[in-house]
Amino acid sequence: MAKDGLEVTVLEKQPTPGGRARQLKEDGFTFDMGPSWYWMRDVFERYFASFGKKVEDYYTLERLDPSYRVYWESGFTDVPASYEAFREVLESWEPGAAKNWMLFWKKPHINTG
Ligand SMILES: Cc1cc2nc3c(=O)[nH]c(=O)nc-3n(C[C@H](O)[C@H](O)[C@H](O)COP(=O)(O)OP(=O)(O)OC[C@H]3O[C@@H](n4cnc5c(N)ncnc54)[C@H](O)[C@@H]3O)c2cc1C
Repeated sequence: MAKDGLEVTVLEKQPTPGGRARQLKEDGFTFDMGPSWYWMRDVFERYFASFGKKVEDYYTLERLDPSYRVYWESGFTDVPASYEAFREVLESWEPGAAKNWMLFWKKPHINTG
């Protein structure tokens, strides 16, 4: 909207802006609070391109393995980067979940990169 010449005011109820993509700074460390997975990369690329910019001029992506860790009351689960390994984790949580994950992943708005 600002790009189209409108005056924009951003109102944020949290102490810092960014929503799920916000940063947490504490004790000299900076944490990215999300997203866990870099989905819909074309959305990021289109957004940067609309300002004549490129994503890679601002950040680089590094695949982490495990991708992230989910903490439960009774412990934690590492979420692996490999698609096949993740399917096994899903099946261990709930038989049939890997198939449903596949259906979700095939949705066109998700599987863009
Ligand atoms: C558990 C979880 C995991 C997810 N994992 C992924 C992932 O791995 N990859 C991915 O691409 N997407 C993921 N998503 C989806 C992604 O987080 C959302 O699609 C994305 O954050 C939406 O962006 P947004 O800017 O619309 O909303 P948000 O990022 O939610 O930002 C909304 C902002 O509005 C503020 N706000 C709310 N109400 C008010 C108010 N009344 N006044 C002022 N400010 C207000 C909030 O504090 C927040 O900062 C995940 C979502 C959840 C919940």
